[in-house]
Amino acid sequence: MMAGGQQPIIVLREGTKRERGKGAQSNNIMAARAISDAVKSTLGPKGMDKMLVDGMGDVVITNDGATILKEIDVEHPAAKMIVEVAKSQDEECGDGTTSAVVLTGELLKYAGELLEQNIHPTVICGGYKLAANKAKETLNKLSIIIKPGDKKTLKDIAMTSMASKSASAEKTLLADVVVEAVTNVAEKVGGKTVVDLDNIQIQKKQGGGIGNTEIITGIIIDKERVHEGMPKNIKNAKIALIDSALEVKKTEVDARIQINDPTQLQAFLDEEEGMIKKMVDKVIKSGANVLICQKGIDDIAQHYLAKNGIFAVRRAKKSDMEKLAKATGANIVGSLDGLTSKDIGFAGNVEEKKIGDDKMTFVTGCKNPKAVSILIRGTTDHVVDELERGLHDALSVVAVALEDGKMTAGGGAAAIAISMALRDYAPSVGGREQMAIEAFANAIEIIPKTLSENAGLDPIDMMLEIRNAHSKGKKYAGINVLGGKVDDMLKNNVIEPLRVSMQEIEASSEAATMILRIDDVIASKGGGAPPGGMPPGGMGGMPPGMDGMM
Ligand code: ADP
Ligand code: MG
Repeated sequence: MMAGGQQPIIVLREGTKRERGKGAQSNNIMAARAISDAVKSTLGPKGMDKMLVDGMGDVVITNDGATILKEIDVEHPAAKMIVEVAKSQDEECGDGTTSAVVLTGELLKYAGELLEQNIHPTVICGGYKLAANKAKETLNKLSIIIKPGDKKTLKDIAMTSMASKSASAEKTLLADVVVEAVTNVAEKVGGKTVVDLDNIQIQKKQGGGIGNTEIITGIIIDKERVHEGMPKNIKNAKIALIDSALEVKKTEVDARIQINDPTQLQAFLDEEEGMIKKMVDKVIKSGANVLICQKGIDDIAQHYLAKNGIFAVRRAKKSDMEKLAKATGANIVGSLDGLTSKDIGFAGNVEEKKIGDDKMTFVTGCKNPKAVSILIRGTTDHVVDELERGLHDALSVVAVALEDGKMTAGGGAAAIAISMALRDYAPSVGGREQMAIEAFANAIEIIPKTLSENAGLDPIDMMLEIRNAHSKGKKYAGINVLGGKVDDMLKNNVIEPLRVSMQEIEASSEAATMILRIDDVIASKGGGAPPGGMPPGGMGGMPPGMDGMM
């Protein structure tokens, strides 16, 4: 920031690092590509897993792009922007994160080559914008309608998304669970199908095989009943949800009571017991036969509840309380004094069951039949966690497919169709932007190329074959990684929601152009960017030490 004149005016604080022009661009491109290279090997059903170890020594084993990027510490600001790509892809459709990141890296790689040829970043960005629009148009044309009620297709979409997760072996069962859960919570709002995935509760319990994963129409609480004397099973449950403790409040300060004769002691104890008894009486009076308490329930209260045949659970999670309220129609009551029969919710059955080594409470036959839960099982915690991530992706894609009713062919089929459409389109634009559009066409081939590479297939042979198939009008030809050949992806049931592919194009082209437009990186010493000193395109607060990090 030179002032016009002889004397340079220093406006940046001491210690600020600054990189400009080509140096800044190539550094940004390198950092972004390093991130995309890091996740590349996980793409597709034959992709490898990564073992991530955090600062505390905790281990995560995953194949999920979004998770990998969430777990690794990234310092370079451009690399951070790539992590954002994965996040936005994950938020929009819950799948396609690796593809979006890999595509961003490749778009930047080809842009780097164009920069070397002295093509201005603005021109490249313009060309990429045109290419992205054409790509989306092509995707729309290619997309196939999913017929309402077509559960088989939804199941294939779930299977495609889970193909790359370690749980692949039990895919069929899991896909059934996913489709069942999503179709159960789907609602029609103003003629449109809407799926709120928050209505699907996920509970995990280590032990047992993945095959024991099941769907429950109701809510599961990872708690046992508080007292052995309580019934294990309550039919026609009337449920009270309480957010306060069934305990006599202990005083804040240390108080001492002087007791001079034994009758006084008895009177004191009686009084405490009397207070607890009154609390339990309030529960009984409300008509409840099940009590789910977010706080503690003291021994005496447990005893009285049991004596009155009430099933009680203590220290339930807040999120479970909320799900229970929605499912049973109960109100969460802050204080027992406020509890009335109007606050009581209903469920056909409340039952404690032994799952693995633990006991859990199952609330089924709820007033609201849309409440569903998935109980994830797996031999170890790592398996259960990765399964949860896989289910998250599958639930998301099935929800998106159901909402939009449109799908495309996977396995790189759509990518090749886009690439060919772009090559046809580029000459009509002409000039230097044509070069950028062609670069986009090259970049998007990274998807089938990487799928082949990760499956141990020769990418060059595969690309020749797949282009050949497409030029003969086989628009759904993709890489069948399991069979090791080019194949019709629709016939192989490798299908994805249209929205996932659309978002991949959207997120990657946006991030790539945003990074390309930056020609000045100013990083203050202590993190936190200097006010007004941000490059166009705006990055968040920048970390210290910009160089030599990747
Ligand atoms: P992402 O995070 O991008 O979803 P994945 O590791 O889940 O990455 O891989 C997704 C890619 O794998 C998609 O391009 C999808 O079409 C492809 N794919 C899934 N199953 C198959 C299959 N059986 N054959 C070929 N490609 C497949
Ligand atoms: Mg995926």
